[in-house]
Amino acid sequence: MHLSIITCLPRLLESPFNDSILKRAQQKNLVTVDIIDLRDYATDKHQSVDDYAFGGGAGMVLMIEPIDRCITDLKSKRQYDEVIYMSPDGELFSQPLANELSLKKNLILLCGHYKGVDERVREHLVTREISIGNYVLSGGELAAAVVADAVIRLLPGVLNDETSALSDSFQDGLVAPPVYTRPADYKGWKVPAILLSGDHAKIEEWKHEQALERTRKRRPGLIVD
Ligand code: SAH
Repeated sequence: MHLSIITCLPRLLESPFNDSILKRAQQKNLVTVDIIDLRDYATDKHQSVDDYAFGGGAGMVLMIEPIDRCITDLKSKRQYDEVIYMSPDGELFSQPLANELSLKKNLILLCGHYKGVDERVREHLVTREISIGNYVLSGGELAAAVVADAVIRLLPGVLNDETSALSDSFQDGLVAPPVYTRPADYKGWKVPAILLSGDHAKIEEWKHEQALERTRKRRPGLIVD
């Protein structure tokens, strides 16, 4: 998979891709991530990418021209499955959507900033819009990092234990059961005895029951009777 993330603040995206699982995924060549500085596609000597909104109102708007030039340049080098604009009013991000995106080959993630992007970008250049929740962030960078993380960890070979992503919350319509590690007794707070029993069938059964109970309590909407 290849991800091209367009941003006017590339530094905001440096660390999420340079540590831990996302870094290893790139080292193993399972994904390539390009952080593209929108300012490289500006047309003036000040490298402007934003301007005042027509009709007035507070806040700057990202201009269409640098974004169009940038997307056109990217498309001349690769065929992209989707051009995704990170937007608070987009399709709500979810595990099924992460699963769907993990099957794509090349994706562009466009990060807005300030008041957002010129509406014509959304009408003509973007194929899809994703929101990570009903709240407003200062920019699309953190949202793009969230989407990229959720998608990259699903790519085959990224997680060491191949079954690990499958046993995460939401993958089987349930949230994850509780997990414990050493010590088995901490200040008298004990790990459930079943987990120390060595009886794998019983342990699996316990985990499933716990996942069901937790889902009923915390995400009843996930359970389809
Ligand atoms: N004026 C806009 C908000 C702009 S926030 C409005 O009221 O809808 C600036 C940028 O942050 C947006 O262009 C978008 O790229 C990003 N952003 C903010 N909240 C987001 C969210 N919940 N999900 C995804 N991207 C978001």
